[in-house]
Amino acid sequence: MSLSLALVGIGKIARDQHIPSIADTPGLTLGATASRNVNAVVDGVDAFQSLDALLQERPEIEAVSLATPPQARYHDAALALRAGKHVMLEKPPGATLSEVHALEALAKANGVTLFATWHSREAAAVDAARDWLKDKTLTAVRITWKEDVRYWHPGQDWIWEAGGLGVFDPGINALSVMTAILPAPVHLASAELHFPENRDTPIAAELVFADAGGADVTASFDWLEQGEPRWTVEIETSEGNATLSEGGARFVPENGEPVAGEDAEYRRLYARFAELIASGASEVDLAPMRHVADAFTLGRRVVAPAFDW
Ligand code: NAP
Repeated sequence: MSLSLALVGIGKIARDQHIPSIADTPGLTLGATASRNVNAVVDGVDAFQSLDALLQERPEIEAVSLATPPQARYHDAALALRAGKHVMLEKPPGATLSEVHALEALAKANGVTLFATWHSREAAAVDAARDWLKDKTLTAVRITWKEDVRYWHPGQDWIWEAGGLGVFDPGINALSVMTAILPAPVHLASAELHFPENRDTPIAAELVFADAGGADVTASFDWLEQGEPRWTVEIETSEGNATLSEGGARFVPENGEPVAGEDAEYRRLYARFAELIASGASEVDLAPMRHVADAFTLGRRVVAPAFDW
């Protein structure tokens, strides 16, 4: 039997990825949507302007997927969990670490599934990079995550408001990949965050990590990159080098076969959500978000020129 799911926040990622991926996931059906904008609707699906209204009118909905910006996440997630619904969270899973810990406790107390997703971990070549690294001695990792904010996030003012993470909105994808492929955890040693003088969140960041067994691990994020984005992890080991590029979709080891594949990130996420619900489990890994929180507590602030669309 198919599980009826509600999708909240019918914006860019909901239309690009969530809606087609739900349609392709056996065992899940899009039963209703909630979005404040009356025109944000999906053909043939009941639409509400808030999750509160949706849950009152459609109590048979069993699961809720939140594709809103992080500042709106906690209110709706807590509402759904308290109502006994399984919940899937877009990345980042919340605006603070503490609110996600609170959501974990709520999911447990209500006996439902909470799934904090990291879509970039589902890119086609991330598993291959992790497996390749397993038996190697790491000497350096250079993460470059640079894109043009005006092209990738046109008019999205929430990314510049507190809690919107700024360049860490894409940067946290890199950190989700880093934490998935490194054989052991690292922690942030220093950071420099560049804040436009008229914005609350950074437009660029430089991170240096420690405790990687002597390896140099760095990350460089920039939102003013022109042309093609660069979403790349260069890996050096005593046994040879490799590059994970295209946001994790392509892995090329120096002495081995390249691995690449089609984009199935959100299909894999929804299949995993269905599996977690069926097995009564939750999955909440906060490692990528912890590194971002560390960058905000440890990072040196540099004032950058004003940013306007
Ligand atoms: P978006 O289009 O700007 O926002 C999604 C929808 O959320 C909007 O259409 C809006 O719908 C609702 N919304 C916006 N601000 C809100 C607020 N303050 N309170 C409540 N609802 C609000 O953003 P998006 O690009 O889809 O990103 C949404 C989430 O997905 C983010 O966490 C982002 O990191 C993640 N994500 C985005 C991408 C991407 O390529 N864009 C990729 C992967 C993941 P209504 O006005 O109708 O309520």
